[in-house]
Amino acid sequence: MSVPALRIDNLVKCYGDFAAVDGVSLAVEEGEFFGLLGRNGAGKTTTINAIVGLARITRGTIALFGHDVERDWRLARGTVGLAPQEYNFDRYLNIRDVLIYQAGYYGLRGAAVARRADLLLERFDLTSKAKQVYTRLSGGMKRRLSLARALIHEPRLLILDEPTAGVDVELRLELWSLLRELNGRGSTIILTTHYLEEAEELCDRIAIIQSGKLVALDSTRHLVGAGNLQDVFLELTRR
Ligand code: ATP
Repeated sequence: MSVPALRIDNLVKCYGDFAAVDGVSLAVEEGEFFGLLGRNGAGKTTTINAIVGLARITRGTIALFGHDVERDWRLARGTVGLAPQEYNFDRYLNIRDVLIYQAGYYGLRGAAVARRADLLLERFDLTSKAKQVYTRLSGGMKRRLSLARALIHEPRLLILDEPTAGVDVELRLELWSLLRELNGRGSTIILTTHYLEEAEELCDRIAIIQSGKLVALDSTRHLVGAGNLQDVFLELTRR
């Protein structure tokens, strides 16, 4: 069997005495579209932060395509691109430079990177805004820029933390179609979402996290078919 895109073994992440993630283990195969569901504060972003090196692991291990994220961090980080929940673009750079600077974090520079930035801008319909700062973009354009930035170093795994939070129906459909296309071209995708229909529509398998623990992991068809997600969905939309 091939090496999984992501393998998490007994991950624990504590903030002081509080375990935000409490013994999560799972594996995501290359080419999968994988959903991470859970109510606010369940531990989804903390898990993602541990995967991409933004949070130190308290216990357990994480490997990306066989590379331990702590021991082989340089190799591991090159395999993954993150579109975070909150925008953290440099507000003084034009969006083309946002992409080019991001590539620099991976040691990539020069004409090839500029070409890739231009290609991504074109692919995500942002070429006409290339010289604008991100604050001048519409909400949908910012989401697309976030995806483009996550893809600048050609990662094999794309992680999206609530990519469609607060967007209108039309933009959500547009983003779904972009994500499907990326997955169809071979990218492994992990996304967190609060929307059951989004997970159902896009994901091959779904993991549910509750209070830092993994409480379900199955194919979308099984989980939805078994009616398990309906309980979770009600809980998620109660606020
Ligand atoms: P949401 O759906 O609201 O984004 P989430 O599932 O992503 O929630 P996390 O952001 O991972 O949840 O948070 C899990 C728990 O860890 C929460 O109780 C949160 O307050 C806590 N937490 C997250 N980051 C920190 C931090 N830097 N310091 C202390 N506690 C933290």
